[in-house]
Amino acid sequence: MISEDFVDVLGIHISRLGKKEAEEKIESSLCSDTPLTIFTPNPEIIMRAQKDKEFGRRLNSADILLPDGIGVVIASRILRDPLPERITGIDTGEFILKLADEHSIPVFLLGARPGVAERAATEIKARYKSIKEIGTHHGYFEKSGPENDAVIKAINDSEARILLVCFGAPMQETWISENKKHLKAVKLYIGLGGALDVWAKDVRRAPKIIQRIGFEWLWRILKEPRRAGFLLRMPPFLYKVLCRKISN
Ligand code: UDP
Repeated sequence: MISEDFVDVLGIHISRLGKKEAEEKIESSLCSDTPLTIFTPNPEIIMRAQKDKEFGRRLNSADILLPDGIGVVIASRILRDPLPERITGIDTGEFILKLADEHSIPVFLLGARPGVAERAATEIKARYKSIKEIGTHHGYFEKSGPENDAVIKAINDSEARILLVCFGAPMQETWISENKKHLKAVKLYIGLGGALDVWAKDVRRAPKIIQRIGFEWLWRILKEPRRAGFLLRMPPFLYKVLCRKISN
């Protein structure tokens, strides 16, 4: 961690940063060429890390862990160690694209179904005209062996300094931890789940007002009913947090 300052939510070290502070850290590390890895855990990811200790270690090895989910912020309040606010992965990704535009930094979009990253790149280029280069590759390749080597080569050939990995958890975090040693120019890694589907306009985010009042999760369930399992996983998460609080 760049900063020792974190809130421990069931063993996962969420950075104690407000949105503005997180953005300042990202900008200063990008400008100084200091490598930075950002993961954005939500309650489901934290619950997964309870069973999969290796995954938990991978999460905690990031430089910044942002609370992408109101549940993580609620957990921090239950623990009487409140996080300043929810910071979503996609908003952070948007900020990173803005920085890439301002500083003319080459970016690589990795993930989603074939064709989605290319369409996302077209949409992004229309909004951010000064981004130097946007490389793309879909996320449905063998994550080891020759197919993986070809993806590493494509990223290295692109000379991207920012890599957005969008496979969903835990695949994206695992891939970043295992492959960053092979990536030569990349200085900023972030795992961003379904962000490319949003940027390609295949998936719509909740209206701003719903985001602001902390109900984006409900919007996502209504739009994508496969996510309804989230409702079943939330009570055990909060119960576990409560037990942790009592035992402390
Ligand atoms: N995905 C991928 N490779 C895979 C499996 C999934 O690139 O092997 C992509 C999938 O197409 C989707 C994203 O990973 O674009 C996962 O999105 P989801 O919305 O499930 O992630 P979340 O935002 O919930 O973490």
